[in-house]
Amino acid sequence: MKTRMKSWLLGLAAVWFAVAAGSQETASRTLAGGDLAAIAGTTADASQLSFPTDEEIQRTYDLIADYHTKHLEELGVKLPRLRRANGDYVLSALTLVYLARGYPDVKTVSKSELTQFMRQYVPDVNDVQQARHLAAQSGWYILSGTRKDGRELNIQPGEYRLINLEEAYPGFNSQRRVDLSSPDYWEQLKAAYGYRCACCGSKEGEPNFNWPDTITVLQKGHMDPSKPLGPGNLIPQCVKCNQPARDFWVFDDKGRVVAVANPAVVERSSDDVQFQVYERLYRKYGGRDPEEIEEAAAAAAEDADPPEDATEPESAGTLP
Ligand SMILES: [Zn+2]
Repeated sequence: MKTRMKSWLLGLAAVWFAVAAGSQETASRTLAGGDLAAIAGTTADASQLSFPTDEEIQRTYDLIADYHTKHLEELGVKLPRLRRANGDYVLSALTLVYLARGYPDVKTVSKSELTQFMRQYVPDVNDVQQARHLAAQSGWYILSGTRKDGRELNIQPGEYRLINLEEAYPGFNSQRRVDLSSPDYWEQLKAAYGYRCACCGSKEGEPNFNWPDTITVLQKGHMDPSKPLGPGNLIPQCVKCNQPARDFWVFDDKGRVVAVANPAVVERSSDDVQFQVYERLYRKYGGRDPEEIEEAAAAAAEDADPPEDATEPESAGTLP
C-alpha cells in the first residue's frame, strides 16, 4: 500500500515536473501530444498515474518474452534481460515493459514520464535513451517523435509508442536480410526499408515529409562516401536527403550520421565547435606540426613490410 501511494505521488510529481519545472517547450509539446494532458485532466481516475507494480512488470515482461519467442527472435530482435544477477532491473527492459503496458492497447509515452518511472529504480537517471536504442539497435517496433517516423500517428518530439510485438522496426537488420550478390539487390534493399528514405522516412512515390510538394524519389545513398557505392555501403535516401548530405557525412544503415566524411564541414561550423575540434586534435597530436606527424608516419610505414598502397580515398567533393 505504501509503495503504491509512493508511486502515485511520483506519478503526480511527473506531471508537475513536466508542466511546471520542465522547459516551456517540452511541456507544451507534451501537452499537445495529449497524453499527459489527458492524465492531468482525469484526476478522478488516479490509477492512471500509478506506475506498474513489480508484479505487473513481471507479467508484462513475460507477455513480451512470449511474443518475442513466437515472432521476433527469428528476425534478430534482441530481448533484454529483466533483472541483473544482483536483482536490479535492467533499464532497457523496464522501458520495454512501460511501453508495452496493457498491450495491445498501448499508450504513447513521453520521455519525461519514462524518466520519472526509471527514477524509482535508478534515482539519478537523466537522459533516457533506452527507447531509441530499443528500436534502432535491438529492433523493437517503437516509433519516436524525434525522427519523422511518427508522423502518421501524430507522435510528438520526445514521445514514444510501441507499434506491435510481431514485427521488427522497419529497416532493422535490413542490410543483413538482403542478398548482397543478388542482381536485384537495390529493389530488395528498398523493400527492406519499406520503400522509405533511411534518413527522413519519406515513402517512394508519396509526398516528401518535409517538402509536401515534392514526390519522393529514392536514390542510392552512400553510407561511407570514401568507399565505393555498392552492396553493404548503400542506403535508400530521398533526393532531398541525398543531395545536401552527399559526401559530407558517414551514415549507418539506419540513416544516422555517425562521422564526418569531409573535414570541410568543420570549417562551416561555429567558432565554438571549431575550437573544440582544435582542442581535441591539439591534445591528440600533442600540438605537433602536421608535417612532422606525416613524416613520422611515413617513416614508420617504410619500416613495416610490405609497404602499404597509399591510395587516396576518392575525392569527397567540394563544399560551396
Ligand atoms: Zn529523406
